[in-house]
Amino acid sequence: MEFFGLSETAFRLGLFASIFLIMAILETWLPRRKRRFTRGQRWTTNIGILVSDFLAVSAVTFVIPLTAVITAFWASANGWGLLNILDLPLWLEWLIAIIVLDWVIWAQHLITHKVPILWRLHRVHHSDVEMDATTAVRFHPLEIIFSIFVKSAAILVLGPAAAAVVVFEALVNGSAIFNHANFNLPRPLDIIVRAVFVTPDMHRVHHSVHRHETDSNYGFFLSIWDRIFNTYVPQPQDGHDEMEIGLAEWQDDAPTRFTWAISFPFRNPPHTPSEQSKAAMTEQPQSQDQ
Ligand SMILES: [Zn+2]
Repeated sequence: MEFFGLSETAFRLGLFASIFLIMAILETWLPRRKRRFTRGQRWTTNIGILVSDFLAVSAVTFVIPLTAVITAFWASANGWGLLNILDLPLWLEWLIAIIVLDWVIWAQHLITHKVPILWRLHRVHHSDVEMDATTAVRFHPLEIIFSIFVKSAAILVLGPAAAAVVVFEALVNGSAIFNHANFNLPRPLDIIVRAVFVTPDMHRVHHSVHRHETDSNYGFFLSIWDRIFNTYVPQPQDGHDEMEIGLAEWQDDAPTRFTWAISFPFRNPPHTPSEQSKAAMTEQPQSQDQ
């Protein structure tokens, strides 16, 4: 499959690198918050997690050739999925594919907050003590593999074109780098953009140490789902400058270490969401990081 004369892999990598570079420049020129930790160790860890994701996905797909795009090709060849059965105009098929897949990712994100075993994986993302463009790639390899299965199941039911899946994944990944970035999108612009898309200020609420804020604003691309399903919190209660980012129990530099982050899902006690919010109210930060 080719995009703008590039192979699918070159297209994905090129787009990722371009958006990342733009965001890194904006973070330097127009920072939103003062950094508590320097970039060095966090970036090494977050990029290290990205490399682990790539290696884990390569290993899994070597054994079971399963990715969202492969599933989309298989579904269209075998007539699986609603969009492969209906004869809709191409533009409408693409629009439906992107909107429905975005809802699936939103729902999957919500579920990773509610199911304790999935929260163990997803809290690696939330444990980042700062937020910037690299936080967008800080997902544990097991969560990435879980996500491939969820997307593939959705694709079997929906039957989107493989090219639409590539474009959708590029949109969600690009949007995630944008809305995790620590740059100051002027407020009037934020208001216009967040009418449809998730902005950095909107997503920052989701990375608050306060559990009721963590359990809000699940969107990565479209902002509509949180409004429709009543999980929308417009601004953080402590304000964007003063709010603490990460998990209440781990506010030291431990989460900036690669080995800590990769082993975090297997750490005990398990900290189910309810236990964690209780702990956040009663325990001192760092007290459980033994
Ligand atoms: Zn989350």
